[in-house]
Amino acid sequence: MSHYQVIKNRRTLLERAEKFISDVYFTDCNLRGRLYGSSCPVESLSSFLTPKRIPFSEAEKQTFQLAKVGDSFGPTWWTCWFKVSLCIPEAWKGKEVHFLWESDGEGMVWRDGQPVQGLTKEGQKTSYVLTESLTDEEPHSLCLYVELACNGLFGAGQGSMIAPPDPDRKYSLQRAELVVFNRGVDELLVDFEMLVDIVKLLGENDQRGFQALFTANEMVNVCDVTNPNSFLAARKLAKKFFSQKNGESQHVVHAMGHCHIDTAWLWPYEETIRKCARSWVTAIRLMEKNADFIFTCSQAQQLEWVKQWYPGLYSQIQHFASRGQFVPVGGTWVEMDGNLPSGESMVRQFLEGQRFFHKEFGRYCTEFWLPDTFGYSAQLPQIMQGCGITRFLTQKLSWNLINKFPHSTFFWEGLDGSQVLTHFPPGDSYEMKCKVEDLLNSVRNNKDKGRANHSAVLFGYGDGGGGPTQRMLQRLERVRDTDGLPRVQMSSPDQLFSALEADSTLLCTWTGELFLELHNGSYTTQAQIKKGNRQCETLLHDIEVVSSLALSRNPSFQYPADWLHKLWRLLLLNQFHDVIPGTCIEMVVQDALKYYQEIRSAGAELLQEVCRSLLAEKGVHEGKEGSPSLALNTLPWERSEVIQLPGGAAEPTLALVKVPSVGIAAVTESIEPDCPVSVSTQADGTVVMENGILRVTVDKAGRVASICLVNSNREAIAGGCFGNQFVMFDDVPLYWDAWDVMDYHLQTRKPVSGVIHPVEVVHSGGLRGSVKFSLRISEKSSISQELVLDARCPYVKFHTEVDWQESHKFLKVEFPLRVRSPNATYEIQFGHLQRPTHWNTSWDWARFEVWGHKWADLSEHGFGVALLNDCKYGYSVLRNTLTLSLLRAPKSPDATADMGQHQFTYAVMPHTGSFQEAAVIQNAYNLNFPLRLLPKETGSPQTGSWSAFSLSSSAIILETIKQAEDRKDALVLRMFESHGSSASAMLCSALPLKEALFCDLLERPDATHPAPITASGISLTFTPFQIVSLLVILK
Ligand SMILES: [Zn+2]
Repeated sequence: MSHYQVIKNRRTLLERAEKFISDVYFTDCNLRGRLYGSSCPVESLSSFLTPKRIPFSEAEKQTFQLAKVGDSFGPTWWTCWFKVSLCIPEAWKGKEVHFLWESDGEGMVWRDGQPVQGLTKEGQKTSYVLTESLTDEEPHSLCLYVELACNGLFGAGQGSMIAPPDPDRKYSLQRAELVVFNRGVDELLVDFEMLVDIVKLLGENDQRGFQALFTANEMVNVCDVTNPNSFLAARKLAKKFFSQKNGESQHVVHAMGHCHIDTAWLWPYEETIRKCARSWVTAIRLMEKNADFIFTCSQAQQLEWVKQWYPGLYSQIQHFASRGQFVPVGGTWVEMDGNLPSGESMVRQFLEGQRFFHKEFGRYCTEFWLPDTFGYSAQLPQIMQGCGITRFLTQKLSWNLINKFPHSTFFWEGLDGSQVLTHFPPGDSYEMKCKVEDLLNSVRNNKDKGRANHSAVLFGYGDGGGGPTQRMLQRLERVRDTDGLPRVQMSSPDQLFSALEADSTLLCTWTGELFLELHNGSYTTQAQIKKGNRQCETLLHDIEVVSSLALSRNPSFQYPADWLHKLWRLLLLNQFHDVIPGTCIEMVVQDALKYYQEIRSAGAELLQEVCRSLLAEKGVHEGKEGSPSLALNTLPWERSEVIQLPGGAAEPTLALVKVPSVGIAAVTESIEPDCPVSVSTQADGTVVMENGILRVTVDKAGRVASICLVNSNREAIAGGCFGNQFVMFDDVPLYWDAWDVMDYHLQTRKPVSGVIHPVEVVHSGGLRGSVKFSLRISEKSSISQELVLDARCPYVKFHTEVDWQESHKFLKVEFPLRVRSPNATYEIQFGHLQRPTHWNTSWDWARFEVWGHKWADLSEHGFGVALLNDCKYGYSVLRNTLTLSLLRAPKSPDATADMGQHQFTYAVMPHTGSFQEAAVIQNAYNLNFPLRLLPKETGSPQTGSWSAFSLSSSAIILETIKQAEDRKDALVLRMFESHGSSASAMLCSALPLKEALFCDLLERPDATHPAPITASGISLTFTPFQIVSLLVILK
């Protein structure tokens, strides 16, 4: 230590050290000012602009025009390619030389036709290392290309990050030169930075902080910035401090590099492909230099893109994956939304993802990875377990607006009781920077102190890509084991979770969903995306069912596996956690809608083709004009429904048809309904419709004054209230516009009351009764609706059209019910759950807006009312009012979100008994999977109807019938227990089944667990909400 006396003034000592490394102050005489030595301009610089994202091979053939530093280029989303000639001065022999490039656009350096380095100023990446020590042998003259995207790390938001992109933004080149990089200065800067942070963060009550303070101070004393030989003494002082070790009990931080890349968000899908390449090539450079650097990478789709567009980079990725440095994680196709995708969609996320990882990297992922998603379905633990995954990492619940989630490391127990070990990095981020603060937060914020002594630090710039930097690795390297800080080791997720598993006896268990108390508007935003998702899930389901039936009847049938993979992957892609929630820019919405359109049109054609094959195999030949139609039911129960026959010009022809489960029936003539629908108009304009099950009274304004169950004479609507009451709310969140609806919006409720056209009768009864009306929402927006009551149907449908031209408004529809219950029930993936209808505690009122799938139900003992829908996901139930969220009007990041025409249907189903006994679940499926009339040319007389599968228990739903991935002669049948009960069922089939085996969700059969096929079928047992998959081999 210095022999000079050091005055007791912590502040001056600390600030002295800070100024010594400041990049703002005193750079003429401080250490930071010495980071770069000599510099020289590039020899020549030329560029060309293109609106397209083109491959390198095409770019290098273009004509480049002279360019210079200071030039700007654009507009947004274009690409500027630069050709750069460099000549490294001879005099720099022995020096480390960097190519320095600063721009507000995201860049990629190409050398010899290969991508070699991502350059993004916002991600602290501005240099490409040309040599670490220049030798005479290496080339001094080089030609590089820089592909510069005209967008920043976070797109091109005008003013604020999430504002819609500015289409005319210009980007500039601020620096392009060669510099000598002083490695010695750089290392010393890291020492100083870590010491200064330790002083600040350990504070005045910690003696270790003072030890850091005096170390830093003495380092300044011994450093002569003009004499690099003096640095060694300073570094020795730092090393002495950093190598003073912890005791054995210290917390262990498992650092893992990560780069969260949103598959589309404030930039389109196409730009993400380049973001992946820029981020990952940078990570590869770091792996080359740092042999223990581990980088975790999720989302099979992104790897698939890089494989296709950057094969050279992809083979390097595979190389580093085989060395265990590049670690694929997650197991899913994309990091999907955790709430809205259907159960089968979630299975497919894993099926497509895990099969990709296994094929490309030789192993299945063992951790599910979803750090940035807006809540997590209670069914995920079972789905993970079924896909070979027992561990889960996220951190998003740290965003909760109201309640602090009580655990960091815990067992998460799903709907069926499945458990997965779950870890929330206590640093509350998936893009830490390895600063002292991140390390200390990992200990201090850990909510399982004494229970779990390990935690993850995910480091690297994220969201827009970027990833880790050399500086982050230097920081970690200093404090591997430094007294006062947690121990740090570079780990794979497997190492972290293995350490947690090894000492898990004190861990707590959280049962049920992980609900995010934020972003609850995302259940409703971008209604067309939600509708596209639901309808395409339905369509792919139906194509798979029919294709499987066709295959089972004719082994030479070409199951359209390739097509289905392609369409499924498009659907899964749009389930990304900023796309299906509707929190993306307009460009992404357009891409997403285009993909849904592709699925719809290719899917419709495919369905027609496979139907034709199925019927041909059933001995049904091309029909003639006038021959009857066939109706197809892809659901596993018999249905009697009114359908509309094609052909009828003015008056649509209706028919009541009965179609067996997973089967076909000829539509020869309509069945006579035992009770036809009656429609009568009262003197006051009120219309009453009745079908023997329900009696519905609609007032002139389209409000439902009464829905009565005829047999029990039980009224569903609360006394003095109206159902089907549209309500508008002001919807101005605090910041996250497309994401958030805040609790206070509820204080702005205004009923929609302006009648444009009062109720009038459309269908006057018989097979169908219906009335229509229209309402004015505002000067610009209106609703028209047809209320439909069909013969034999236990629910009344509300076909709705909205012309929506609002700003920051929220449209909902309310049903105040004559039901009292502390809980309402909502459908989720492969099951349902309950949430409170009151606001007792903060955990209750935080759920003022919740998500559900095809139905929600409010029941008391013996009676209840279900609200079904065909494309909505947002609900709320407070006391006795069941509310469906219909449309929002946020303006960021898409200024046009939800503007225009909308069509959707919801339905109300009062019932006696429980919703399980009343078949609410089945009826919600019926609404979403309408009976399909097979194409006319395939229709021809056939004897009787035909059913492929049926189940003896109404609790069991046969959700999926598809060809097995690895066996062309086998089907996979996926069933689940839907009532929340222990159940047994007999699965009967008319198909030629040879053998059946239980299999997991990845379709891996369990050879020790056959499912015997007897004359009466396959006998199955289920625990509550259990998902069971069978691999069935065809004869
Ligand atoms: Zn994200």
